[in-house]
Amino acid sequence: MPRAVHLKAGTVLFRVGEAGDVAYFIEKGRVRIYSSDGPDAVVLGEHGRGQLVGEMAIIDGGARSATVVALEDCTLYGVSRDQITKRLETVDPVIRACLETILVRFRAAMSTVRELRAEREATVFTSAPCAIGGKLLDSAAKSLELENDILSGLEDGQFDVHFQPVVRLNDRQLHGFEALIRWDHPTLGRISPARFIPVAEASGLMPQITTWMVEAALDGLRTIDLALSLDPGSRKAPRLNVNLSAHDLAQPEQLMRHLREATRSRAIPPWRVTLEITETALMANEQEAADCLHALKALGFGVAIDDFGTGYANLSYVRVLPATVLKLDRSFINAVSEDAITQRLVKSVLSLGQDLDMKVVAEGLERPEDIQTLQDMGCLLGQGYAFAKPMDTLAAAKWARDSRNSGAASSVKATGADTPARREPSPAPRVA
Ligand code: C2E
Ligand code: CA
Ligand code: CA
Repeated sequence: MPRAVHLKAGTVLFRVGEAGDVAYFIEKGRVRIYSSDGPDAVVLGEHGRGQLVGEMAIIDGGARSATVVALEDCTLYGVSRDQITKRLETVDPVIRACLETILVRFRAAMSTVRELRAEREATVFTSAPCAIGGKLLDSAAKSLELENDILSGLEDGQFDVHFQPVVRLNDRQLHGFEALIRWDHPTLGRISPARFIPVAEASGLMPQITTWMVEAALDGLRTIDLALSLDPGSRKAPRLNVNLSAHDLAQPEQLMRHLREATRSRAIPPWRVTLEITETALMANEQEAADCLHALKALGFGVAIDDFGTGYANLSYVRVLPATVLKLDRSFINAVSEDAITQRLVKSVLSLGQDLDMKVVAEGLERPEDIQTLQDMGCLLGQGYAFAKPMDTLAAAKWARDSRNSGAASSVKATGADTPARREPSPAPRVA
């Protein structure tokens, strides 16, 4: 993926007719667009900060339609053809057809300009104002900048993995951990995964993030095993949940090879690892996702449907997926103690889980009364601030050891949590 380009005033960025696989966002300075390369070139426009140049070639794969020269010293961010292609794949076909038609017509108009120029005296086209709203370009620029930052963040070790315990509700023992990614951006500080994961998904960076996460989470799990003096193959060792995105399932061979090698090299049996995928992501490409999940299950990995109840999936669809776990979304759990309809829905999900041989995990448990309600309803597993917030590897290892040794609620509350708890935690669980 291209990075920032620094251009001295007077330097040519690219020439008409060249093959182009990079567009540029102007971060600093101004550039001038010429219709051709020669002395009779017509000035087509000038662009400055926040604007895009060279975008046509990377959308339709054609040659450069203009020559671009820096008027001042410039800093530009490169946007590769790959970055655009991934985004175009997900665009509505009607919008895509319109975009391609506009490009074809624009290229035809440009060649007419060149022909006319050859016949007549110099005509100077004044710079047309950019028709695209500043806000739109600004948000596109921010997304692309974040995308470049994700790549350098992966290279520079800015990402970290945090672990949140999943607890058995009947005896409050530790069942396992969900691995959650954390990013400490050098200038923006801690950025929520809810903000950068969608950018990584749109740009095709998700497989790289998942690869990194799988390695980091499995390393963290080994640290936790060591803190508990447990062999990686021990039945008592905690389980690990890792989140996948729909894009990971689109490259099943690569994903499966990596998961198999990453677990094997650490002697972690696949049954300890469950892969979480959201209903919405599953619906994006149901057959492809189902095939990949079946193959993962055949390798021995667990499969969890995350945020269950938020994706409008129908029941027959849930039946054909090879899920071993349903993670019941926080929105149900928040209302379970007060709202009779929510209680009925949760009961239905619990009996669905039982019928289809899937464990149900209640997510986002914050209040002791909700833990009690769910336990009374027969829910076996829960996760939420009531037990512990996500914490770094060493804190998670300490949490697992402390809770096994003492079961002291106070030690649970004190360890490296990354989000403030809103209510008192319930008594700490013990490791199985
Ligand atoms: P998720 O997979 O549903 O993860 C649970 C989220 O709920 C986490 O937010 C967790 O910190 C938060 N949470 C846990 N217990 C409670 C609670 O009691 N109350 C409240 N209010 N929140 C609770 P986080 O870590 O900010 O992650 C947000 C989302 O980002 C995740 O939702 C997941 O969809 C995505 N994500 C995080 N890490 C990864 C990753 O490594 N890969 C992928 N593909 N997605 C990830
Ligand atoms: Ca999850
Ligand atoms: Ca969830």
